Amino acid sequence: MVELERIRLMLENLGLAQAALTLDSHLDYAARTEITYLEFINRLLEDEADFRRKRSEETRLKLSHLPHKKTLDDFDFSFQPSIDERQIRELATLSFVHRQENVILLGPPGVGKSHIAISLAVEAIRQGLSVYFVNMEKLLDDLRRANKEGRLHNRWKVYQRPGLLVIDEIGYSQLDRVSGNLFFQLVCSRYEKGSMILTSNKGFGEWGDLLGDVPLATAILDRLLHHAHVVNIRGQSYRMKSRIKAGMNIVPQHFSGDMTNGVVNS
Ligand code: ADP
Ligand code: MG
Repeated sequence: MVELERIRLMLENLGLAQAALTLDSHLDYAARTEITYLEFINRLLEDEADFRRKRSEETRLKLSHLPHKKTLDDFDFSFQPSIDERQIRELATLSFVHRQENVILLGPPGVGKSHIAISLAVEAIRQGLSVYFVNMEKLLDDLRRANKEGRLHNRWKVYQRPGLLVIDEIGYSQLDRVSGNLFFQLVCSRYEKGSMILTSNKGFGEWGDLLGDVPLATAILDRLLHHAHVVNIRGQSYRMKSRIKAGMNIVPQHFSGDMTNGVVNS
């Protein structure tokens, strides 16, 4: 079948590799079921489009550096009553990303901050957005090294480009002066341009200590919180679920309060 080969080659040359690959089976199906010409073309092109969507999603998932894939379907909201499920479901529509707003998840260890951040990131990837996930320590190591080696300009792109940047685990270690300034620059560079999801085990009132510089912390929070959804999670660690069931309460007292210093969700 010279003609068939010619058409297959043409599809390939036009960049429709999947259509070229599945042409035979689509022709077969059309012959067996006597579908219309329109239906035939529709099926062939939908196959190509589906294939591309999946490939693009896989590529974006790889580039996102997500540590693992978690979804809201795996999240047990009944375990964490301080979380407003409706608010999280609304965030999962990703309209905050389209409005260049931030999401800040606060709470003690194990309450699901990373889980929710990852779930929103996975949803964003599904919706065709580019995402980059990094934890704070790694982000600052990377920026400090790039700064020292004079290639900060190139590295910025990694953190500026994605439609959604997730910075996990802010607050586990103190920031020195250089790190604090680099973080400030990053926050400024995304301010009103690109969304971020941040997670922290430190309340906003502790960010001054964390950065060793209250005015700098204030300037950072001022920008972060200008258009932000704050999710303040109070509760028990999911990791300790079985122990809690057995009647042990291990959350320190200071973790059960408000970490937002009165910042109200927008
Ligand atoms: P955090 O980032 O707040 O320290 P994680 O999100 O890492 O906590 O949660 C710790 C572990 O418990 C993860 O494996 C996470 O998937 C799981 N987990 C936390 N909360 C829930 C929940 N409400 N339902 C299901 N799994 C949860
Ligand atoms: Mg975490």
